[in-house]
Amino acid sequence: MDVLDERILDYDGVRFFRLISPSIKLPLDKLYPRSINKEFFPDAQTEIPVSAWLVEYEDKLIMIDAGINRQGEDQLPVSHGAVPTFFDQMELFGKKPEDVSKVILTHLHLDHEGWNTLFEDGEWKPAFPEVTYYMARAEISYLLSEKGKAEGGDRIFTNSVLPLFLDNQVTVISAPRTKITKGIEYQSYPGHSPGHSVVWFSTPNAEICFCGDIFHSARQITQPALSSSFCRNTVQALSSRKTFLKNAAARGALVCTAHLSSPSAGFIVNSGAGWAWKPLQSA
Ligand SMILES: [Zn+2]
Repeated sequence: MDVLDERILDYDGVRFFRLISPSIKLPLDKLYPRSINKEFFPDAQTEIPVSAWLVEYEDKLIMIDAGINRQGEDQLPVSHGAVPTFFDQMELFGKKPEDVSKVILTHLHLDHEGWNTLFEDGEWKPAFPEVTYYMARAEISYLLSEKGKAEGGDRIFTNSVLPLFLDNQVTVISAPRTKITKGIEYQSYPGHSPGHSVVWFSTPNAEICFCGDIFHSARQITQPALSSSFCRNTVQALSSRKTFLKNAAARGALVCTAHLSSPSAGFIVNSGAGWAWKPLQSA
């Protein structure tokens, strides 16, 4: 199989392309500080893949999340492999930046907003000049709050969000459920971050969901109580995770993740009193 083939998915008439970023490398106990794994695997390292998605929709492409760019690589403990830029990856898929009509952001962490903008001629500019970027109001508010600023939120806002506002390219979403366009709904599942949301695609034959950081590994599907160190409100994150797992299983949705290993897409299935992950290829 060609290395690109596993990153092109076809599902019930919908074609997806998975865009990758350098993976995030962390000691396991830093990712899950409250986990018992700390006792058993004190030195264990974990490597978290980082994916964003391009979906073909009415002759255009919709991008879900925007990965890690240079700003993120400087701020996150990433593996510095030879990962091409999003634009080079799009070219490999035979796509061009002007094919993109919308960028929908599940949340505004460094590994999800990177290619919103490009650093050119000494300033950050929108990477996709003609598109509308969708993001939650609660995410923007948090970046600019005292707490958010202390975590580097003002840098994310200045470099990756403000240039989009200056060019009038942002649609801010405030409601818990918002129809973006026919068949595409943005739904708030807060906890990982204050405005964290997922994106539902409904086609005549299928339900597809882009779930952002509802979980970072399959172990959070079987053990929903495990919140990552990146979850800002662990109680709310757990509640959102359980609600999402229940809904995704009930809807039979194909779930496209940001941080699960290849193929990074699969199904949430009921398992005993809880849930399990069934990757797409074995579905
Ligand atoms: Zn993430």
